[in-house]
Amino acid sequence: MMDDALRVLKEVFGYDRFRTPQDEVIRRLVEGQDVLVVMPTGGGKSLCYQLPALLRPGTAVVVSPLIALMQDQVSALSQWGIRAGCLNSALPFEELAATEQALRRGELDLLYIAPERLLQPRTLDLLGHCRLALFAIDEAHCVSQWGHDFRPEYLQLSRLADAFPGVPRIALTATADGRTQQEIVERLALRDAARFIQGFDRPNIRYRIGQKDRAREQLLRFLQQEHPQDAGVVYCLSRKRVEETAAWLSERGFNALPYHAGLPAELRAHHQHRFLTEEGLVMVATIAFGMGIDKPNVRFVAHLDLPKSIEAYYQETGRAGRDGLPADAWMVYGLQDVIFLRQMLESSQAPELQKQIERQKLEAMLGLCEITSCRRQTLLAYFGENDHSPCGNCDTCLEPVPIWDGTEVARKALSAVYRSGQRFGVNHVIDILIGQASDKVRERGHDRISTFGIGKELDRNQWRSVFRQLVARGYLGVDAQGHGVLHLSERCRPLLRGEEVLELRHEERKAAGKQSRFSR
Ligand code: ADP
Ligand code: ZN
Repeated sequence: MMDDALRVLKEVFGYDRFRTPQDEVIRRLVEGQDVLVVMPTGGGKSLCYQLPALLRPGTAVVVSPLIALMQDQVSALSQWGIRAGCLNSALPFEELAATEQALRRGELDLLYIAPERLLQPRTLDLLGHCRLALFAIDEAHCVSQWGHDFRPEYLQLSRLADAFPGVPRIALTATADGRTQQEIVERLALRDAARFIQGFDRPNIRYRIGQKDRAREQLLRFLQQEHPQDAGVVYCLSRKRVEETAAWLSERGFNALPYHAGLPAELRAHHQHRFLTEEGLVMVATIAFGMGIDKPNVRFVAHLDLPKSIEAYYQETGRAGRDGLPADAWMVYGLQDVIFLRQMLESSQAPELQKQIERQKLEAMLGLCEITSCRRQTLLAYFGENDHSPCGNCDTCLEPVPIWDGTEVARKALSAVYRSGQRFGVNHVIDILIGQASDKVRERGHDRISTFGIGKELDRNQWRSVFRQLVARGYLGVDAQGHGVLHLSERCRPLLRGEEVLELRHEERKAAGKQSRFSR
């Protein structure tokens, strides 16, 4: 059977090998077992049900709440010659009728369907008359009542177990801690489910983040000393910088090509093709490059500018070292990047709430940059994995960072949050600390509380950094609605009681220059 699977992988999807644990997932599912898959975004979850859909007789039914993406998925599958259709409330009647017809005739390999539609008696009846290969339940964490994305319809999906007892089911998600995994298995009534849990950790990637100090020279040193012959990606924020950097590296003997959305489509495709097929090519790119690129031996991903969120950083750096061999995630950033990103964010047309959320994501990214403890720990904690110990394979683990004792300023910060009622965002609290009697401060009477003006030893930017650290380390929480309101969390008690010391990073301008110490 696995020979068949490999043949289909090559012939239909055009890939040479399975990623772990795709092959094992596929084997179980084709044999008829229920499966739970937790894998980070971009890990390759879709293939886990798309390929079995072709190996098992009948139609595979894919349940997804993301109606907007269904049509894209169906088109992508059609390009591979796979017969797919979708049923959801956004489609015109004629199209729905045609898809149902094709389904009845057994002409569909895959059917994408929204949960509420699937659960209509009419649809269940229709499916009851069809031969079904499997059910795939995407975004399975939506079944968790404690999660952010809870959808009541998902609870009803347990009915599939009784209604279609012989049809194996696979539940997939990118986010589920232990408790949520258990909830998924129970609420979807998966039977003897094989669980495949792939965490976010990419142990072979070495994370390093430094301050900018003539960034290009820093990059050049990094490439010359550590990756003179290797394939890698250099990310820049702007198209102009992409072109300049690619030209500059080429002049210095590197095989470097530019890639951004402003280049003609043919040229982009050509550069991408060269990157995939030639050895040792450096792609200098905006974030337009990378989606769906699967080159196993990318040895480094370098960032010359700050990504706008930890999610983006994780995705972009995740393109390094897919083969499991040592790889570098290298970045330099500066205050200018932060200002630029903030300006971009403020001038966008996005609704205010979305801007708030994006501001917080950027702050979290900066928090990761400024952390004095293990980067990987912080990164994984951001994705909900809280039980990792220091990794020994990031810059802060490998080389102690110069620090100062921030316990006292942290207490002041926490106290200002507390005394103003835990109802305000960082800017207001900083106004209080530095004694800035803004209108809002005066209106609320915060110029008369004991914390007003007790933090004049730091300037606004330094305070921002302190707050980022307090959030990054879990002392302060930020409201989930995106308004940026800060509150004290359980975690800050030992700090307030004087049982814990908060170490903060000294701005060290030369830090990123000392690359040689990291040579493997
Ligand atoms: P997820 O659903 O986990 O976010 P996808 O299923 O969208 O991830 O896959 C991410 C990317 O990886 C896609 O571009 C997909 O085509 C590619 N991919 C998946 N499996 C393989 C494989 N075995 N070999 C090469 N590329 C793969
Ligand atoms: Zn570490």
